[in-house]
Amino acid sequence: MAKLCAAGVQLREQIDDDYPDRDRKSDGWIADARHLAKGSSDHIPVDGIVRAIDIDSDLAAHKEEAYALVEKIRKCAKKGDKRIAYIIFDGKIMSPILGWKRRTYKGANPHRSHFHISFTTLGDKDGSYFNLEGEANERLKEDGRELGQDIPSNGTSDLSSSRPRCRCNCQCSSRISLA
Ligand SMILES: [Zn+2]
Repeated sequence: MAKLCAAGVQLREQIDDDYPDRDRKSDGWIADARHLAKGSSDHIPVDGIVRAIDIDSDLAAHKEEAYALVEKIRKCAKKGDKRIAYIIFDGKIMSPILGWKRRTYKGANPHRSHFHISFTTLGDKDGSYFNLEGEANERLKEDGRELGQDIPSNGTSDLSSSRPRCRCNCQCSSRISLA
């Protein structure tokens, strides 16, 4: 029985609290068969723990805040929350390399329909609150595009066939674990 690391459960719950009506179609956590075959993804359980989540970038009533939300997570990591290993969104990867600077992501999937967050082993059992406050709803200034405009509603996810739901089938995406 694989389960999501405590930090992943906590961060997803905080995002759910902030965006209760958000789209969850591109959400994911545990790797599907295709990813298992490829063999390198934080979505693959290690010692029964999955250390990654995907969050659909369609925040419904707050679509324009996807960049701001990723920024809050990036700043939280930069300020020293070492449970966050790296973040990928919209062709950019953010990690401790170059002090959490946004760098071009060269992977096959540019991660537009969702953003990916990987966690370190420090997050396995540490589900304490992520400090995402600070500069509320700050928009990226370096990026002049219309924020939130180009999210395809049928966007392809790298985890498209892996959408485990909570057993009550309510789509609440809470503390799911595979039997
Ligand atoms: Zn992912």
